[in-house]
Amino acid sequence: MTTPIYDTVLHGGTLLDGSATPGYQADIGIQAGRIAAIAPAGSLHGQQQHDASGWIISPGFIDVHAHDDQQAVSAPAMQAKLTQGVTTVVVGNCGISLVPWVADRTPPAPLNLIGSQADYCYPTVAAYAAAVDAAGPTVNIGLLVGHSTLRVNVLDDPAQAASAAQVEQMQALLEEGMQSGALGFSSGLFYPTSKIAGNDEVIALAKVAARHGGVYTSHIRDEYAGVIDSIHEACDAGEAAGLQVVLSHHKCAGPANWGRSNESLACVTERRRRHPVGLDAYPYTAGSTTLNPDYVDGKIKVLVSWSEPHPEHNGRDLAEVAAEWGVDQKEAARRLSPAGGIYFQMHEDDVRRILAYPHTMIGSDGLPRDAHPHPRLWGAFPRVLGHYCREEKLFHLPEAIRRMTTLSADTFGLRRRGRLQVGCAADLVVFSPAHIRDTATFADPKQPAQGIHQVWVNGVLSVIDGVLTGQRGGRMLRRQQERFDEGQP
Ligand SMILES: [Zn+2]
Repeated sequence: MTTPIYDTVLHGGTLLDGSATPGYQADIGIQAGRIAAIAPAGSLHGQQQHDASGWIISPGFIDVHAHDDQQAVSAPAMQAKLTQGVTTVVVGNCGISLVPWVADRTPPAPLNLIGSQADYCYPTVAAYAAAVDAAGPTVNIGLLVGHSTLRVNVLDDPAQAASAAQVEQMQALLEEGMQSGALGFSSGLFYPTSKIAGNDEVIALAKVAARHGGVYTSHIRDEYAGVIDSIHEACDAGEAAGLQVVLSHHKCAGPANWGRSNESLACVTERRRRHPVGLDAYPYTAGSTTLNPDYVDGKIKVLVSWSEPHPEHNGRDLAEVAAEWGVDQKEAARRLSPAGGIYFQMHEDDVRRILAYPHTMIGSDGLPRDAHPHPRLWGAFPRVLGHYCREEKLFHLPEAIRRMTTLSADTFGLRRRGRLQVGCAADLVVFSPAHIRDTATFADPKQPAQGIHQVWVNGVLSVIDGVLTGQRGGRMLRRQQERFDEGQP
């Protein structure tokens, strides 16, 4: 019997397999983009061999909350994500997806966060998926179809209520999306493009996603005083439609609600007794979205992340800009618009409590088009592993890895990703637990992580010590293939 020779073997790394169990030393054999063998250190042979002794090897990180819809096509190097060890992103969150819409007008906020009119050029998810595969991104792309995008597609004015016929049109668009491989449906009832919609409209759409085995992610209606009612609303929709709910970027926003994560997490725990509910969070006390005078209260610090009429103020404190102009912050926000803002709206204690909750996945919520983005775009995953895990000891390392790999893959139906197991995709991160850290800051946000030696995507070596190799192994993930492909490599 001859010893098999694999395409690639990583020798002697310490494997954290995603299950939150302690690491163990082993060789990993990669063949045709999949993990073909895991065996005692020194026992496997490959055409290419890499010495991984002294490094941790974990499944590639899954960014379950991403807005890279357009980058997947126009900037396929996906540097901000890839350099932090992310090998899969789930785009189309918060009710805003780049598809399906061929824009006949300037995209209204918040759709302008992810693309310009020219970028909204895909009538169907099938067309977008083909464009992603043609572009060949470095990371895998999973897509949620956004409620606001459906509304903007079907309604001339998305601030208006949809008729029964218009809801049917949205259902048909979503049906195409699910048939073409979308992972589910997202909503953002907080936003002006879908605020008017009641939960009946959300349920009618979530049922389409449910029929295909998709998930429902919700940027809830109110993360401030109404946070509990809004969690119930999202869970009610998921329960009525019969599908997994994910509460997006969970937070208790605004000083008046600081400390209420005790209450909100108890609410999630209660709802979980009846129905599958998960949540995602990013490791920062600031959020980021459009700059809207309605979201500016003059109390919390706000930074300008981009401004169309006044790009000279990108990255500046809104209070300073307002003082220079001799106006209040709401008026300054109005003059800067269309614009984006970074809002220091959370309390550190809530951020920690939410991150430490066992059902919390990590999602960056990064906004890659912003001129001066929130540092979560480049730093979310290494910040969890360096700051919150190693330094603050919020959880141990195998558990931190589980929240960015296996838990995420299971929640989104990616059965052959997010774990080190024979037959799974060879999406891998090789890193130093002592050195991994984020370097992106609010002042200087476009900075890659440190302490990551290699990133592999579908068996393709994509990053070495922070430098992109130029090889791009990512692909569009289609739910049917990811979920039901039982074939062994
Ligand atoms: Zn959101």
